[in-house]
Amino acid sequence: MSYLILEECIACGACLPECPEGAISEGTPYKIDPRLCTECGACAEVCPVDACRPAAPGEKMNNTKQGNF
Ligand code: SF4
Ligand code: SF4
Repeated sequence: MSYLILEECIACGACLPECPEGAISEGTPYKIDPRLCTECGACAEVCPVDACRPAAPGEKMNNTKQGNF
């Protein structure tokens, strides 16, 4: 599982330095690499538009299969 970033992202960049795993990359919207994200929630805490949230079980991930647990 992983956090993901929604279309609401305004590309402010606030989350990027907060991620301890380096899982966030720039873009519009910004993206989270699900292989690196540990769901610590740091990005969600700083996002001014609440664009970061945990992915729902079974929700489509970028390019990797994730087990549900
Ligand atoms: S939840 Fe934590 S590890 Fe995952 S992208 Fe956000 S800051 Fe990085
Ligand atoms: S903090 Fe929120 S709005 Fe800013 S870049 Fe990250 S996801 Fe986008």
